[in-house]
Amino acid sequence: MQTCSERSEAIPLVDLKRQYSSIEKDIDLSIKRVLNSGQFILGTEVSSLEKEAAEYIGVKYAIGVASGTDALHLSLLACGVGEGDEVITTSFTFIATAEAVSYCGAKPVFADIDIDTYNIDPSKIEEKITEKTKAIIPVHLYGRAADMDRIMEIAEKYKLKVIEDCAQSFGTEYKNKKTGGIGNAGAFSFFPSKNLGGYGDGGMVVTDDGDIAEKVRMLRAHGSRQKYIHQVIGYNSRLDEIQAAILRIKLKKIDMWNEMRRKHAVIYNSLLKGLPVKLSDSNNREHIYHVYTIRIKKRDDCIKFLSENGISSAVHYPVTIPAQEAYKHLGYKESDLPNSYQAAREVLSLPMFPEMEKGEIETICKAIKRFIETGNL
Ligand SMILES: *Cc1c(COP(=O)(O)O)cnc(C)c1O
Repeated sequence: MQTCSERSEAIPLVDLKRQYSSIEKDIDLSIKRVLNSGQFILGTEVSSLEKEAAEYIGVKYAIGVASGTDALHLSLLACGVGEGDEVITTSFTFIATAEAVSYCGAKPVFADIDIDTYNIDPSKIEEKITEKTKAIIPVHLYGRAADMDRIMEIAEKYKLKVIEDCAQSFGTEYKNKKTGGIGNAGAFSFFPSKNLGGYGDGGMVVTDDGDIAEKVRMLRAHGSRQKYIHQVIGYNSRLDEIQAAILRIKLKKIDMWNEMRRKHAVIYNSLLKGLPVKLSDSNNREHIYHVYTIRIKKRDDCIKFLSENGISSAVHYPVTIPAQEAYKHLGYKESDLPNSYQAAREVLSLPMFPEMEKGEIETICKAIKRFIETGNL
């Protein structure tokens, strides 16, 4: 089959090499600076990144940790979540959101999503609250802000903590505030393919609460404030100096990159308009399009067709969390969470990264049109 791409290679879902080549000199210099400093864990690069990220998000404190999963886990612990507690979260997310709850000895309780935004449906939260409920974890999925006003209202009414899962939403704004700075704490991931990603694992907790910040700071470093003096049993969850130095370079570009993502989304939406697909159509600052996801029937046939035409795509996510083998024991049924199950069947993520070219988006949209026209839908 003839490929419709003008580039000889396939269009990737994400191309981190293109981004690196645009910042290569600065990155190489910053890595060298760390190598020459002889300090590799929790040094001046990490503390500078923490200061710069706190300022960017608009919070008092930022604490670098080893991953986004740890950022969630340590935030939950710092908020007092423990054995026997319940934490309400979305059934349609990456599994780390639920795992972090399980690590605390607490039980994740799943609420269904709004099928238009893919984020937790606030109207489904209240019915899940029991006397064991301690916290809510909204996920700003795909980089789109969850309905934080309604979530914060419920949290206030029932005295619950809110930990925002911002792994996909660095720089997303919600009513002039950055995500992560709205709940009691925000958890970020710097996994390489995230919209702000390092060149290895990394994460960050942000908060305005001095008590939460202090606890996370202790927990990430074996429960100690002072070397070899340990208040609590903590963890080894530190951010590397090399990752922090890389992230400081990338932090300066994040607004520009998020803006480029938004522009690509506008092009996608205009080219796919009128086709029998559900568009990802929030063209405002509440969506930074960490991933660009549409909904389409015969999704798996479409993936195959795109692949035959040299176009990569992905499914975020093919299985809801309560339907995963790991969480089957909680006993949820499809009828409990119909929107999440529908999304898992129909969502399709198309290539999205700041450096992609308009011609690539055109190629992708033409291929989808052909898929539909050749009698598939
Ligand atoms: C990536 C991701 C995480 C976990 O982050 P890691 O840095 O990979 O541990 C958590 N939640 C969501 C929604 C994610 O996308």
